[in-house]
Amino acid sequence: MAARIAVFGSVNMDLVAYTDRVPATGETVTGTDFRQVPGGKGANQAVAAARAGASVAFLGAVGDDSFGTSLRTNLVGCGVDVGGLRTVPGPSGVAHIVVDAGGGNSIIVVPGANGRVTGVAEGDRALLEGASALLLQLELPMEAVTAAARAGRELGVPVHLTPAPAQDLPAELLESVDVLVPNEHEAAALTGRTDPREALSALLEDVPEVLITLGGEGSLYGARGTEPVHVPAHRVAAVDTTAAGDTFCGSFAVARAEGRSPEEAMRFAAAAAALSVQRHGASTSMPDRAEVEEFLR
Ligand code: ADP
Repeated sequence: MAARIAVFGSVNMDLVAYTDRVPATGETVTGTDFRQVPGGKGANQAVAAARAGASVAFLGAVGDDSFGTSLRTNLVGCGVDVGGLRTVPGPSGVAHIVVDAGGGNSIIVVPGANGRVTGVAEGDRALLEGASALLLQLELPMEAVTAAARAGRELGVPVHLTPAPAQDLPAELLESVDVLVPNEHEAAALTGRTDPREALSALLEDVPEVLITLGGEGSLYGARGTEPVHVPAHRVAAVDTTAAGDTFCGSFAVARAEGRSPEEAMRFAAAAAALSVQRHGASTSMPDRAEVEEFLR
């Protein structure tokens, strides 16, 4: 039977303008390209888990604008159950992204409907119940994320938290988290340690399992009382690493939910992420399970 994953998180429309030069205040420049792509860390992790073969329920909110309609349609098209996706008055979340000629970007995220999610509605608990994992990130209000983590803990669902964007994590949130999945920058911001092994040890004081993603260097996992495990990344020609971390987190959670060991799950996730970085886009770049299995063969 397919793993059942619940994702409580953000959904945004990414509006990406490409330009040779980023304009200064008061200046207008002519851009070279524009793309409108569905994003948001929550939605990206949901799509990654669905592509990895899980049955996925998404809980969150879109606005009552046209972006809300297309964000919902996109999730449905990716096979995600949107029974827990509310439509609230006002704009959907948007990420305004400017990419310069060197590939550098600057981003303004306006949370919109994501900022109006307050907690887990009574009816939503049914979507969490019996799930093999609950995936959380920090693009919703902290009190909503904390309430969801607590609901997951109460229902006996393992809670995976991606602490992005990086910020201080309240103790009430950490006490309900089973697996913390920061990238190396978030791990350093949370602990003040730039060495991933030192950051891992420090984070294990707060949560039972930690998985730090290290970009092209792979990932490092540790659980209390065991030796850390490092799994290298695949050597591939990366063209766009957007959502590599979300692909990794979604795939890792599915593999764990299927009963694989942390190390096996890291290998599965590393293959999915390696395939995704070789293509442009966020959710559009994520491979399906058959491709990942073929890559690992
Ligand atoms: P985030 O996108 O959250 O910053 P990372 O950059 O750490 O996350 O990437 C997550 C995972 O994606 C890594 O652990 C690795 O498996 C894979 N990955 C990222 N960048 C590359 C790359 N250049 N080549 C191969 N795999 C990569």
